[in-house]
Amino acid sequence: MHPIRKFAYAMVSLMFALILAGCGGGGGASVSDRCADLASTPLPVAKAVIKAAVLNAATSSLPEHCQIDGAINERTGADGQQYAIKFRLRLPTDWNGRFYMGGGGGTNGTLVDPTSVLAMRYATIGTDSGHDNSVDNNANAGGTASFGVDPQARIDFAYNSYDQVTQIGKALTLARYQRTPEFSYFQGCSEGGREALLMSQRFPAHYDGIVSGDPVLHIPLGPMAGIHTTKTFAGLATRMGLFQANGDPALNKTFTDADLLLVREAVLAACDSLDGLADGIVDNFPACTTPLVHAKLTAVQCAGGKTASCLTADQIASLEKAFEGPKDSQGNSLYASYPWDGGIGGLSGTTYNANWRSWWLGSYNSATNNATKLNFVSAVAVIYGSPPVLPFTTADSLNFSLNYNFDTDVAKMYTASGAYTPASTSMLFTDSADYSSFRNRGGKLVIYQGVADSSVSITDTITWYDKMNAAQGGNAQSFARLFAIPGMNHCSGGPATETFDALAAVVNWVERGVAPDSILATASNPGYFGVTSRSRPLCPHPKQTRYKGTGDINDASNFVCQ
Ligand code: CA
Repeated sequence: MHPIRKFAYAMVSLMFALILAGCGGGGGASVSDRCADLASTPLPVAKAVIKAAVLNAATSSLPEHCQIDGAINERTGADGQQYAIKFRLRLPTDWNGRFYMGGGGGTNGTLVDPTSVLAMRYATIGTDSGHDNSVDNNANAGGTASFGVDPQARIDFAYNSYDQVTQIGKALTLARYQRTPEFSYFQGCSEGGREALLMSQRFPAHYDGIVSGDPVLHIPLGPMAGIHTTKTFAGLATRMGLFQANGDPALNKTFTDADLLLVREAVLAACDSLDGLADGIVDNFPACTTPLVHAKLTAVQCAGGKTASCLTADQIASLEKAFEGPKDSQGNSLYASYPWDGGIGGLSGTTYNANWRSWWLGSYNSATNNATKLNFVSAVAVIYGSPPVLPFTTADSLNFSLNYNFDTDVAKMYTASGAYTPASTSMLFTDSADYSSFRNRGGKLVIYQGVADSSVSITDTITWYDKMNAAQGGNAQSFARLFAIPGMNHCSGGPATETFDALAAVVNWVERGVAPDSILATASNPGYFGVTSRSRPLCPHPKQTRYKGTGDINDASNFVCQ
């Protein structure tokens, strides 16, 4: 054993002996009393410090718990900004024996703090992944993307922070309760879904159960694909004569909310009944091909000028081009295509579904371009490309997109440059097919994703899952299951049965050996279907939800997975 580690181990052992002596000596030191003492716990990661260890009294929503805030590797970065991997651990006095880490979102930079899981008496932890959006935020270096200028901050964001924070969290959990967690879980959606896959692939020893929602498994490519949609709809806006006050093409004006409802209805006309039931949900989305949808879109194509009840030929062609995903000039695909799904639109009462359009188009009534994909252009420029593009302000995002060259610029994410090594894609991709370690330790993985996810294409996720399954000899179902949710947008929302408890499903699988043959889901907004409630079983890919043929079509019990 390394001398320093040996010393640390001895210190931990000595501390436990003292604590146990205190307990046994009639002193009555309770778990609560020990909270402040945890500040001096030797930590298993270099340059890690505990800033505070405070016992929080119970509230109406949270149990009494010890809150520990700390930081790893506090330093001045290559760009002169201050960096650290911050973390927050919460240890409930009445502990259920489980350890839980929550994943982040976007490009992180805010401290993840999963208190809703603490409420269930889990020990919980989260991190900002090594940069702080309120500190590391240089307007001339992409704003909150500016951490991309610092090579170590890139590495911490890509993989390092989640590993180190897990190690520290488990050490402090052991110090607090004098026993290791019985079970450990990780859960996240979007970037957090990528982190979830990361833990199952790169650090398979850390977690017994993992939930990965809408994972950005090829994270530099998703934002790059957004540049393709931006280019496509900017071109459409220009041809339609739609501009913002500053002269920029108005992406958000190219489709009204009602136009997208026409698209939804065309998709449903083409594909809803492919699963045997016209219920507003396209369960057989793999069969919902572009030619099928195209025929229904052209059925509502304007004969003359644009009206509220028709789509122009240019709108239809542009939408289909966007759904194809980015390609180079030779026609080679650079990401995945997107599946056709009813969640592209939706109307509940008088309220349109704005979730799908928020990524590619932005909100129709906005006076400026506010598509979320534009927000991530600074990440492509400053975080994912090597070297970073500087100076870069968020106001440069549209022009950067319009000038982006799919033949030459994509390679900047696949190659290292100077201090920016290894290449972004090699650090960030979580598309490994090697699950031997995770499978052999008994790990269980639940993946879910909206079919109408306009941020991350579920086609990309399914392609990876099928490849991974093939690498397991077709037996991936024994430890990893993927649940597609027709109608659901990115991580939530849409005309879908999109409310479900994936954590409970993975806990049941890990602790009781009950594999999720289906997951019960309800619609948080059944008004999209004109009903007051609706439930469905979510089914593990490649199975799909099917109506039994009799009974209430809003009741999950009348559906099966097949
Ligand atoms: Ca259907």
